[in-house]
Amino acid sequence: MRIDKLIANLGYGSRKEVKKILKNGSVTVNGKTVKDAKVHVDTVNDSIMILGEEIHYKEFIYLMMNKPPGVISATEDSRDETVVDLLAHADMVYTPFPVGRLDKDTEGFLLLTNDGQLAHQLLSPKKNVPKTYFAVINTEVTAEDVEEFKKGVTLDDGYHTKSGELKVLKSGLRSDIELTITEGKFHQVKRMFEAVGKKVIYLKRISMGPLKLDDSLSLGEYRELSEEEINLLK
Ligand code: URA
Repeated sequence: MRIDKLIANLGYGSRKEVKKILKNGSVTVNGKTVKDAKVHVDTVNDSIMILGEEIHYKEFIYLMMNKPPGVISATEDSRDETVVDLLAHADMVYTPFPVGRLDKDTEGFLLLTNDGQLAHQLLSPKKNVPKTYFAVINTEVTAEDVEEFKKGVTLDDGYHTKSGELKVLKSGLRSDIELTITEGKFHQVKRMFEAVGKKVIYLKRISMGPLKLDDSLSLGEYRELSEEEINLLK
């Protein structure tokens, strides 16, 4: 990759600013100052320093976010804050996007990446990637509900869902449950409970495929996935 393109991709500024950084002698490749914008560098094997900082450039970025309520699972929105707005500039330069959507009021595990192929795989209905949600329900959740969910329920638009695994953690005037589904229809968890006459009053995704939400992440925080976690997803 050309050195000026790399510097620009890393978010150091406009083409003019990139030229200035180079001209000032602020860029070294393997210890040698590079002023020529046309020089090609090997982003994996060369040791590149820009303004005294070692650069670790990568093609893909994979982020696990604990999505807070009130933000939109999108890259931009004219009214509301989006999950991408919560990213640090250094991560935003890779232009990650959310893999699937959580509702504005839903919290929890959201994967952001710029790896379109992986996103496509995870979202493909054929792959049946399980997603587990923790929810608080406005009333009792019964053994009959567990059976209904196992058989699949019919949503308001007539769609009959695939089997869902419902676990009742606490049943009472308000119930705590965990539900694992392998689809991602619009408002699916909320609509599955509506189908049995109940209402979701709190919803959090706690896992996606083989990965669980890292419970050290507070709402709005995120971290990069490890190599091992990325390989588990693939
Ligand atoms: N199901 C919902 O109803 N909402 C979400 O955000 C995710 C799954």
